[in-house]
Amino acid sequence: MEWLFLLLPIAALSGWLAARKHYKIHLKISGGAFDPEYFKGLNYLLNEQPDKAIDVFIRLLEVNSDTVETHLALANLFRRRGETDRAIRIHQNLIARPSLTPQQRDQALVELGLDYMNAGVLDRAEQLFLELLNKPSPPIEASQQLLRIYQQEKKWLQAIEIAKKIQIQSQENMGEIIAQFYCELAEQQLTINSHDAKSLLKKAHTHDHKCVRAALLSAELHINANNFRKAQKFLLNIEQQNHHYISEALPKLLECHQRLNTLPAFGNWLQALLISYPNMTSARLMLTHIIQLQQGSQTAHDYLYKQLHSHPSIEGLHSLISLGDTSHPDIIPLLKNITTTLVRRGHRYTCKHCGFSGKSMHWHCPSCKQWGTIMPAEVHISSLETFLESSP
Ligand SMILES: [Zn+2]
Repeated sequence: MEWLFLLLPIAALSGWLAARKHYKIHLKISGGAFDPEYFKGLNYLLNEQPDKAIDVFIRLLEVNSDTVETHLALANLFRRRGETDRAIRIHQNLIARPSLTPQQRDQALVELGLDYMNAGVLDRAEQLFLELLNKPSPPIEASQQLLRIYQQEKKWLQAIEIAKKIQIQSQENMGEIIAQFYCELAEQQLTINSHDAKSLLKKAHTHDHKCVRAALLSAELHINANNFRKAQKFLLNIEQQNHHYISEALPKLLECHQRLNTLPAFGNWLQALLISYPNMTSARLMLTHIIQLQQGSQTAHDYLYKQLHSHPSIEGLHSLISLGDTSHPDIIPLLKNITTTLVRRGHRYTCKHCGFSGKSMHWHCPSCKQWGTIMPAEVHISSLETFLESSP
């Protein structure tokens, strides 16, 4: 981090060069005596006395507002070094100058807000960015930072409002994340007020008709109200929305079919699904489960055993053993041991944005904070060796 300090004199020097033109006039008036303040400031910086350097630069600003860029650059460097209080001091001083242009003042205000964010004083940052929004042409950074604050504080209604503003201001499509915010609100209402939850989910769908989360939540609402056909409609639509998430819908679909007494139809649907997506382990295991329910464990075992030759998977192997083949009594307990460990250790959910992986579904990635980037992964036998190698 120390090398950053070497940049300070360079930043100061560029400001000095920009200001030199101005000084020529000043020099003539004062009879050729060169204002030595800049060198004094540089000297303090070189001698690692930043507070004295800040004093010099603040004094200089009163002489010449061409140095605004220099002050912003210096404050930025302080903030990046984690010296937020120094950055705040420079920015507050800048803002107090009447000679700033409106754009320069806005920029300094945005920077001051970022200082507050860095210092963790979110309410002051929020206040400042909100004031900026009231300006005739508010800087887009103000809205973007407010969006960050509201997500961090889980203020979803405010997050929705600000995301809509950004969409209008920047033409950027915010539909996907607005839908996620509505889902967050709907989830809170799910067991409290199903009517409100339903209308929130409708809004989520309006903003992003491919929102799988809204479909899953809608299905949950309908299942809770014993409307299994309506729930099914939402769940089946997920294949069109994003087929990577079908595995999330399968347990709910099973519940619907069981309650409607239509398990054979579910089996047929799964078979068709496996023709479209032959590697979908979750569908293969669900089909095995249906066969077991309808025709018993032996038939289910025979089906899965055959399937595992063409489509090997750890989870498939685990299910096969759980179905109870007793023909090799010595090998089975050992194999079961291995597969139990593998299934327990395997991370089923992976973020396609940052690579984060975990055991449970997150719609908001805990690592990179992106929405809707985590997907259920199918664990295949090909990863078996890696698992075994990495185990102690
Ligand atoms: Zn991520």
